[in-house]
Amino acid sequence: MYPLPFLGTFSHRPPPRIKNFQINNQIVKLKYCYTCKIFRPPRASHCSICDNCVERFDHHCPWVGNCVGKRNYRYFYLFILSLSLLTIYIFTFNIVYVALKSLKIGFLNTLKETPGTYPSTVLICFFTLWSVVGLTGFHTFLVALNQTTNEDVSRVFLFL
Ligand SMILES: [Zn+2]
Ligand SMILES: [Zn+2]
Repeated sequence: MYPLPFLGTFSHRPPPRIKNFQINNQIVKLKYCYTCKIFRPPRASHCSICDNCVERFDHHCPWVGNCVGKRNYRYFYLFILSLSLLTIYIFTFNIVYVALKSLKIGFLNTLKETPGTYPSTVLICFFTLWSVVGLTGFHTFLVALNQTTNEDVSRVFLFL
């Protein structure tokens, strides 16, 4: 079987660390991954936690316990976007609820009657808002520029 451009079995000696490949009439240097035994495609990176190379690697997410890359980036983005909208919704309507009830029975009585609404839920939402909405804003910025978190952090860009 003729080996694929990036894949191949090298049973005798390991191939060079870096090799030049021609992709879309451009010469691109590709690094060899000794763990996965492949020449890493452009924009791919090896994740030490998942122990494999990930195509269009974005980052390893400790919260979902998985890598975010080419095949799940859109689901990750939709997840944080819907989570942002849900947090904004809960935050807003909890405040609206407390405000409307306060008009009837007063603010302190509202806190006494529904302690779960204002102090806990609003506070949790307030702190979640900064991190989740901030993350969504950052990823919207990355999508607009066709960049990954990995490229943004390492300042290495490769466009083919
Ligand atoms: Zn690898
Ligand atoms: Zn990973």
